Amino acid sequence: MEIIREISGIRKIIKTARENGQSVGFVPTMGFLHEGHLSLLRRARKENDLVVLSIFVNPLQFGVNEDFGEYPRDLERDAALSEENGCDIIFSPMAKEMYPHGYATYVDVQRLTEGLCGASRPGHFRGVTTVVTKLFNIVTPDRAYFGQKDAQQAMVIKRMTEDLNMDLEIIVLRTVRETDGLAMSSRNANLTTAERSSAPVLFQCLKQAEEQISSGERNPSTIIDRITKTIENEPLTKIDYVSIVDSTELKEVTIIKDRVLIALAVRFGKTRLIDNIIVEVEKCSVSCANQKSTAPQSPMQTSTTKAV
Ligand code: AMP
Repeated sequence: MEIIREISGIRKIIKTARENGQSVGFVPTMGFLHEGHLSLLRRARKENDLVVLSIFVNPLQFGVNEDFGEYPRDLERDAALSEENGCDIIFSPMAKEMYPHGYATYVDVQRLTEGLCGASRPGHFRGVTTVVTKLFNIVTPDRAYFGQKDAQQAMVIKRMTEDLNMDLEIIVLRTVRETDGLAMSSRNANLTTAERSSAPVLFQCLKQAEEQISSGERNPSTIIDRITKTIENEPLTKIDYVSIVDSTELKEVTIIKDRVLIALAVRFGKTRLIDNIIVEVEKCSVSCANQKSTAPQSPMQTSTTKAV
């Protein structure tokens, strides 16, 4: 496995791979790798001839008061883990080459970036879509792999690749969790012991919400209130948002139906964590579908739920 720092270096490798008819799989990350990243890497290994993982803590996607400086970094450890999990090339560019003096071009996906993390981190998605576009242009992958853990990001990237006719496939893989349910994240390394023991509350709340929907609850406010109370009861927490949105446009829903994304962002001390689940309220079967919109069906009778 090679570590490449310069854009010209990775371009040369990709050119040779292409000349040899090889397919290229790409896993963009900010490093400090964990099982979530490695699951993407292993999938890329299965589906491509050449596997490139990028490590770049992208300054453009951090706000001024955010944790760019504190973001954990350890290239040596990442290199060992990457190699063990089938990576061929780590591409870890330098900020001064990615954004040289005079840099002036940005990619902006609208609508989908307005809510959730887009509302609480202004400019964040512009930074993400800009760097991902640049990385796609440099690596020119056939397939790129993203995690459902960053659900909004994955949807924004999919929208961007479609809208800009980028010729690659976006593959989104499920969230990898610790045994206590906490979604793996590089930022977990910055939690104190007390914060770490509070953090599983996020997934517990999401599972609780799923159960409420399973039992027939269709009012998003009831579910959001319960999540909010549970998190507020946990010490060291500060809620950024708790939202239930539809899974295509990411707009807040007034009634829970079809497929919804329950997403939250919470600060534990200085560390902001996000998590989400998709809950599918399965459509009622033939008899109900045939009735079209007559009297509302009892949710208990007509729907079941499934978290994804
Ligand atoms: P990051 O290094 O946090 O920018 O993440 C790089 C990629 O790994 C993104 O596509 C994330 O969605 C994905 N990822 C991060 N955490 C997880 C996780 N726990 N499970 C699955 N994918 C993840």
